[in-house]
Amino acid sequence: MSETATTCPYCGVGCGVLAAAGGEGLSPVRGDPDHPANAGRLCVKGSSLHETLGARGRLLSPRVAGQRVGWEEAIQAVARGLEATQARHGRESVGFYLSGQLLTEDYYVANKLAKGFLGTPHLDTNSRLCMSSAVAGYKRAFGADAVPGCYEDIDHADLLVIAGANPAWNHPILYQRMKRARDSDPGRRVVVLDPRRNASCELADLHLPLRPGSDAILWNGLLVDLARREGLDEDYIRAHCSGFDQALAAARTSAPDTAAVARDCGLDESDVRRFYDWFRETPRTLSFYSQGINQSSSGTDKCNAIINCHLATGRVGRPGASPFSITGQPNAMGGREVGGLANQLAAHRDYDSPGAVAELQAFWRAPAMASGPGYKAVDLFEAVYRGEIRALWIMATNPLVSMPDANRVREALRRCPLVIVSDCVEDTDTLALADIVLPAAGWSEKDGTVTNSERCISRQRALLPATGEARPDWWIVSRVARAMGHKAGFDYKGPAAIFREHAALSAHNNHGQRVFDIGALATLTDEQYQQLGPVQWPLPAGGGGIGRQRLFGDGRFVTGDGRGRLLPVQPRGPQQSLSLDYPLRLNSGRLRDQWHTMTRTGRAPRLLQHRSEPFIAIHPQDLERLELSDGTLAWAHNGRGRFLGRLTATEDQRVGELFVPIHWNDQFSAEAVVSRLMAPVTDPHSGQPESKQGAVALSPFRARWQARLLCRSEPAGAWKPDYWTRVPLNHCHSWHLAGEQPVTGEDWAALAADWLGRAPEISLADPPCGRYRGAWLKGGRLEAVLLVEADNRFPDLAWLDGRFAESGLEAADRRQILAGRAAGMADTGPVVCSCFQVGETTIREAVARGCDSVSALGETLQCGTNCGSCIPELKALVSDASKAGTGGEAHSV
Ligand code: SF4
Repeated sequence: MSETATTCPYCGVGCGVLAAAGGEGLSPVRGDPDHPANAGRLCVKGSSLHETLGARGRLLSPRVAGQRVGWEEAIQAVARGLEATQARHGRESVGFYLSGQLLTEDYYVANKLAKGFLGTPHLDTNSRLCMSSAVAGYKRAFGADAVPGCYEDIDHADLLVIAGANPAWNHPILYQRMKRARDSDPGRRVVVLDPRRNASCELADLHLPLRPGSDAILWNGLLVDLARREGLDEDYIRAHCSGFDQALAAARTSAPDTAAVARDCGLDESDVRRFYDWFRETPRTLSFYSQGINQSSSGTDKCNAIINCHLATGRVGRPGASPFSITGQPNAMGGREVGGLANQLAAHRDYDSPGAVAELQAFWRAPAMASGPGYKAVDLFEAVYRGEIRALWIMATNPLVSMPDANRVREALRRCPLVIVSDCVEDTDTLALADIVLPAAGWSEKDGTVTNSERCISRQRALLPATGEARPDWWIVSRVARAMGHKAGFDYKGPAAIFREHAALSAHNNHGQRVFDIGALATLTDEQYQQLGPVQWPLPAGGGGIGRQRLFGDGRFVTGDGRGRLLPVQPRGPQQSLSLDYPLRLNSGRLRDQWHTMTRTGRAPRLLQHRSEPFIAIHPQDLERLELSDGTLAWAHNGRGRFLGRLTATEDQRVGELFVPIHWNDQFSAEAVVSRLMAPVTDPHSGQPESKQGAVALSPFRARWQARLLCRSEPAGAWKPDYWTRVPLNHCHSWHLAGEQPVTGEDWAALAADWLGRAPEISLADPPCGRYRGAWLKGGRLEAVLLVEADNRFPDLAWLDGRFAESGLEAADRRQILAGRAAGMADTGPVVCSCFQVGETTIREAVARGCDSVSALGETLQCGTNCGSCIPELKALVSDASKAGTGGEAHSV
């Protein structure tokens, strides 16, 4: 089988993947050794890609008003629906909400249709929730939405600052590169700035657990300190910058000295001093930042506070020295290239650039250009709620899970007369409210390009036929456009034709004014497009065909006067205020093995082994003060919504602060959509919501029983346990369950019969212990198992899961099934290494036997030797044992 080079569809690292089609799917994928982003490595998510495919759970055919229809009928329904809405309520009554999961070609045609042919500017994207503050910060400072550095800078940096990011979990391949660079030279340093002691702190020489929202004070203080202690590059400032005096004056008012900074950020002054010393002394400093900076009501200012320090020291676009935002999504940058944000036009044009609208209209031969910026995401859904936008087309995203104040977004969609949703999967919270449902091709079926965090354009290639009647998004949008009479503008033969037009538009009337220029790719033949390898932009025609790794290293920017702008930053705290009713600060974020709303990663059982339930991380002091217990269920709640998860005590949290994951949703758990608790407050420049700083209270969920249910097929009966979380296993479905009402032994028999449609063949009740066991069998095959306990102590389910693959179960097997494990079987504990299925208990035992380093664990158990995503946790387990005196010293890898 020959392998095809494609690109991972998850995070913004944009790793190259080699995959071969075989049988009914893909054979196991591997990293592409020739891709510059990963040089052959993949994290556990990327290396599980082939496990997430298949028709199960996929949206297979178009539906209109709940009825299955053919494509022609569906296209006509969308076209007539959009036309009728605009005819009755005006052009701007139609909106689009897109996604960083779309390919650039999909994004391009959707943006062209909305802004050029339907004349509505109301097209925004879920990248608004992720990166828009970084975009606004770059544009204010450099005049362009352009990352100045590249991944290779990691290898050159002597100081790496990781601000508001956890690359160990969210960008694992970049993190491994950071680790290799750090390990290769003991003189290199890493500083992590984050309220939590996150997994990336494993690499840190210094961790500053600053108060949430106080980042701008810390960076303003750095600017003041650089000025006070001769740390500025005054020649560079004089030759290449503007706004320095105003920026420094503003910084002095909020961060006059190190003592004030330490006090206001909640840090030790000596730690702040150390960070400032290291930054001042280290010309090759690279500052990575991500959602912890961006997802704030003052995110743009925070980005500019970081960039100010880099401009003031001349550390922009030089080897190992740059500010560097890391994108969360695989194609957030590609979406921005085509104008996928409501305040942008295509190919990095702005509405306020003279002649930009007319130029674009002429290029597209567009009949109805939008003339000014449209609604950004939060305002877009608010306009839907008000009834101003009356038809909304949502592509490849699940706003009912990701938008702040998600309950109001749900109500907005309920009120909206026409909701069109294009997606790959059949069950999402958003699809349930769609009038028209369009099945889109997924990863491994679609063909196009994506752009990663370092401006590198890579091909995603089709490897398998589309599932069911699914079609690529560009095809769907183009068909709708043609059905609305715009045949000439959307007569594309395939993604190559769209890409050529996109590339030509980037070069059109550019003359070096816009950094984004890929004119050299505008003349690719279909064959050349098919063969296209990873290329970095800018790549102008006549430039020799080699993209630029770094930007602005010569001190020339694309602001009007060519100077880099320092901005005066007045720090502002979170807008979601703590109160007596809601006294806890709520942080939200991603997990190591999951992606977004789990529509894809939730299909791979091994990716749920690392964390199988929604949880609430909390400091032990808070647990004690609130009289709650580690491992029990609790509600985080406020006036907007509530989140039910399992309390996880950890000193990695600051006192008074909680962390919950963003991934679970109504398809996977009873009540675990964290965005329902977030107020829709946004940054005034970027429109990005403040998703990191909610305000909540915590209340116990008084579980009277807890259970595990494993079923060959979904239970058909009434299904209303107070708490449930779906945990797919390899051979069956499974759920973690709990209830606040007591259920006696006899009642369990009736309840279980109701859920499963009949009484179990074998059962066992021990009412005084609150224990019940039931097993359903058919022809010697296991159909279902229910394990009930008074508390949450259950055996690892892997053994039971394996029994679902067997037939001809013997009587002895049946007794073990009720026990949930084979006689004498050891419990390996929660899975830490997903690649080799190594559990925490096994690792602790190995450490106790003398494995005193991560490499020793790898040699003994293999854990951490494949993707490396679990290395921070392995190191923590070694370190725990070392502190407790039960293992050797914690050595680095
Ligand atoms: Fe995919 Fe992992 Fe690479 Fe991100 S780091 S692109 S999730 S393989």
